[in-house]
Amino acid sequence: MSQLVGCARSDIGDVLEAAMAGARPSRVDCQRLLESGDTKLMGMAAGHLARRGFGRRVTYVNNIILNYTNVCVTDCKFCAFYRPPGDGEAYTLTLDQIRARIRAAWESFGIRQVLIQGGHNPSLPIEYYEEAFAMMRAEFPRVGVHALSASEVDMIARVSRSSTREVLSRLKGAGMQSMPGAGAEILSDRVRGVISPKKITGSDWIRIMREAHEAGLPSSASMMYGHVETASEVADHIDRIARLQERTRGFMAFIPWNFEPNNTALAEEGTVTRGAGGASLLKMIAVSRIALGPIIPHLQSSWLTNGVGMAQLALEYGADDFGGTLIGEEVVSCTGARSTELSGAAIEASIRQVGYEPVERDNFYAPATPSP
Ligand code: SF4
Repeated sequence: MSQLVGCARSDIGDVLEAAMAGARPSRVDCQRLLESGDTKLMGMAAGHLARRGFGRRVTYVNNIILNYTNVCVTDCKFCAFYRPPGDGEAYTLTLDQIRARIRAAWESFGIRQVLIQGGHNPSLPIEYYEEAFAMMRAEFPRVGVHALSASEVDMIARVSRSSTREVLSRLKGAGMQSMPGAGAEILSDRVRGVISPKKITGSDWIRIMREAHEAGLPSSASMMYGHVETASEVADHIDRIARLQERTRGFMAFIPWNFEPNNTALAEEGTVTRGAGGASLLKMIAVSRIALGPIIPHLQSSWLTNGVGMAQLALEYGADDFGGTLIGEEVVSCTGARSTELSGAAIEASIRQVGYEPVERDNFYAPATPSP
């Protein structure tokens, strides 16, 4: 019997029926979902799957983003944040500045995570990161260190003339606890050749994530869509992440987010001039829950690029995590996409407003325990 009214008449009814029975769609079926116009029905199925797993609970994390340097030699065409070495607006935070930012956020907001991301700065040796992570763990033991994209790890390996495996081992030893999924964009090398030709390949991203998981560093996986990708390339992206997860079980969450073209080279050259829009966002959330929900537990609805209203709607389409308070975020803000700062209380109010129960979490998606 059909669990969803309308499944039987939809071109994707068989995929949704199988998903409701617990099956993960094949790569081909994932592409069928992406090419279907039946986003509402997908959303009903995905929302049902999320509520089956999490009830009405929606998590969020009190965190800051530490964009420790904007110096970068990788020149991604979708990035409005970076500055080349020697630029008048280039900066790199000192250890004391990092300490001061975390202390202020800990004392004011009781943050549970510091999300650390920056440019590919060829002047920063691995010791810079080791000292920073060791300081964080020693002085702020209740704050999780969620640090560095796979491509930053690759850059550190090149600067320190060692392997990415060795870099991950040293950084974990210093205090790094988990990794964000940034730098994945779309894993297709055709897409990367257009939007970020100097960045690591999709296969390198998968390899470094595998090495991180094998080293005992869990991570997120991400996807930036809404530029030059095709449905087939999105399906491949999701499938490659799913296949790695089957092997390592190291991904804690999947975070799809839409590209914001303002102030980027892709917009200036006329390749992409408009964002993907709300309908695309809801479809990506629904497809992500259906395709990855059986193996990656959490799905984040990012309010940062899409605004609070869309993040609320995404909860109906399969998301179970609202992301972070993201105090101090600078990368997306450079595109002008960010609407406002959100406190933990504002996030909780936004979640309650649409009938869900907010739960503050820690770096590893466990409920945050009260501060002593
Ligand atoms: S996205 Fe990251 S790697 Fe690419 S230019 Fe911006 S800072 Fe550099």
